[in-house]
Amino acid sequence: MTETEPPVLEIRDLHKAYGPLEVLKGVSIAARKGQVVSLIGSSGSGKSTLLRCCNLLEDSQQGEILFKGEAVRWRGHGAHRHPADKAQVIRIRTNLSMVFQQFNLWSHMTILENIMEAPLTVLGRPRDEVEASARRYLDKVGIGDKADAWPAQLSGGQQQRAAIARALCMEPTALLFDEPTSALDPELEQEVVKVIKALAEEGRTMLLVTHDMRLAADVSDHVVFLHLGRIEEEGTPDRVFGDPETERLRQFLRATAPE
Ligand code: ADP
Ligand code: MG
Repeated sequence: MTETEPPVLEIRDLHKAYGPLEVLKGVSIAARKGQVVSLIGSSGSGKSTLLRCCNLLEDSQQGEILFKGEAVRWRGHGAHRHPADKAQVIRIRTNLSMVFQQFNLWSHMTILENIMEAPLTVLGRPRDEVEASARRYLDKVGIGDKADAWPAQLSGGQQQRAAIARALCMEPTALLFDEPTSALDPELEQEVVKVIKALAEEGRTMLLVTHDMRLAADVSDHVVFLHLGRIEEEGTPDRVFGDPETERLRQFLRATAPE
């Protein structure tokens, strides 16, 4: 059945430049329901830009973005191209919840308030229902006892798990992770890795940018190696990590191999 369903998220030949700097030079990826697609590549290769284009936090100049088969509608061309339909942008963005490297929790709100904010204000869901589901997701990521704490009272690993609970509380169709463990000390990294693995096992659709090759190998259905704004190589984790074809990927994997 999933074979005939359109992918949850698909981008086709996407081009993105910042002024004269071409960051994405024709990138195509698709994530089907329940799939985990990982993006790997050196710093500056365009991974964050790609995620931000996917949920329309950034404009792109050429190419298509499709959410469950529905193409983003554009107005204008090239440098003047912008999404034409605000309601469509909000619908797509709220269905593709993003988890950032730096957590991005509001420091003046408790953990529970942080998680409830968007479901209340963006989705307009009833407060009781939102609070119940916020508490459920805090339990799920293992910090149910931190609901009334302030972000500054939490470790980095706990803050990132709160950020994941916040993303889940939007009941999104897919999750986008941008290096969710790279701001964390190694011992805190593992508590976040555990949560991401559990989400993958649940069959969540995810687009995961990570520097953690072991995590990418463990959870991905498909791995994409981005180099200088292009897909240099892609395939199953076994293929990409076990039998890399290009010298560039081999070099990258040598450089990121655990010591
Ligand atoms: P990655 O996440 O793979 O490290 P990025 O997508 O953050 O790469 O960045 C790709 C390139 O785009 C880099 O050269 C970066 O300096 C540039 N870039 C990213 N964001 C901006 C921006 N807002 N304005 C100008 N250049 C940017
Ligand atoms: Mg980045």
